[in-house]
Amino acid sequence: MLDLKDFEYDELVEYLTGIGEKKFRAEQIFSWLHKGVTSYDEMTNISAKTKEKLMRDTYVSTLSIREKYVSKLDGTVKYLFELPDKNCIESVVMRYHHGLTICISSQVGCRMGCRFCASTIGGLYRSLTAGEILNQVIFAQKDLGERISNIVLMGIGEPLDNFDNVVKFLHNVNHEKGLNIGYRHITLSTCGVVPRIYELAKCNLPITLTISLHAPNDAIRDTIMPVNHKYKIDELIKACHNYVDTTGRRISFEYSLISGVNDGEAQAHELARLIKPIHAHVNLIPVNNVEEREFHKGTKEEIQKFKDTLVGLGINATIRRELGADISASCGQLRKKVL
Ligand code: SAH
Repeated sequence: MLDLKDFEYDELVEYLTGIGEKKFRAEQIFSWLHKGVTSYDEMTNISAKTKEKLMRDTYVSTLSIREKYVSKLDGTVKYLFELPDKNCIESVVMRYHHGLTICISSQVGCRMGCRFCASTIGGLYRSLTAGEILNQVIFAQKDLGERISNIVLMGIGEPLDNFDNVVKFLHNVNHEKGLNIGYRHITLSTCGVVPRIYELAKCNLPITLTISLHAPNDAIRDTIMPVNHKYKIDELIKACHNYVDTTGRRISFEYSLISGVNDGEAQAHELARLIKPIHAHVNLIPVNNVEEREFHKGTKEEIQKFKDTLVGLGINATIRRELGADISASCGQLRKKVL
């Protein structure tokens, strides 16, 4: 059985015309799917005969809310969604002045092994389908009754390790007959799977790409991010230049500040030298303490000093505001706790 949400719009048209339906049915069905219907019964403008045909080889996938937490501090909503195979993933909805942003997962678990990250404990279980990635947006929006206007692929998993499904999802979520979320409102975060960054550049989607850099040199990056054994920083930076040149879009960097590991004055200088030619923005994230990990954040003053050094060297840097601190809203923490 095929999940209708794994079809791109054109594939849906092809499938429907193939079973003797008119083209406009695709528009109707695509639109129902993105409104969050949970069965064919709810598609009131589709005839029983058509539904019968559809049900022969397709189904409407759903995602159930296993747990939901709302932050009393800032209204951040965290979902633990249960997939049909009982696996769980996390999605977080954050309230910003420009609207609701959802942070979604791309895999169940992760095999990238970043030492400070909770999502990677236990490794990769499986990748999500395009429909499962999309369902997080659809069912969070349905549950909240408010439009979600921005998406960040920064939840559990490495999006570029699930490349085809992620790209399919991007096409569908952007489609005008579906949720119609503009590419410019979508950010994809990667730990640096270099060949896939080139591939993504070729797709020419005007999304924002952000790179989890977390270290200014290979010596440090090797110790905290195993992906760096495969793709060194200079290769990563080359891929970033190619991405910027090909797409005309800017790149940004994420840099988790880990006390005593990557947050010294010398590292700030090294980081500035490294990324200055890319004119990229740096998002500084005070590392979240994960129980099983030995990493800790520095003091407020140390974090501020790192930022000031970067800014003094002409780098556009900001410290990420922590949202949902009371509901363990950072990725991987909730799934791990429940499991
Ligand atoms: N796999 C993708 C997206 C998922 S993580 C990536 O690596 O970019 C989203 C961001 O949170 C990444 O920058 C990741 O390195 C960072 N992160 C993970 N665990 C963290 C922690 N304990 N503290 C701070 N940032 C963390």
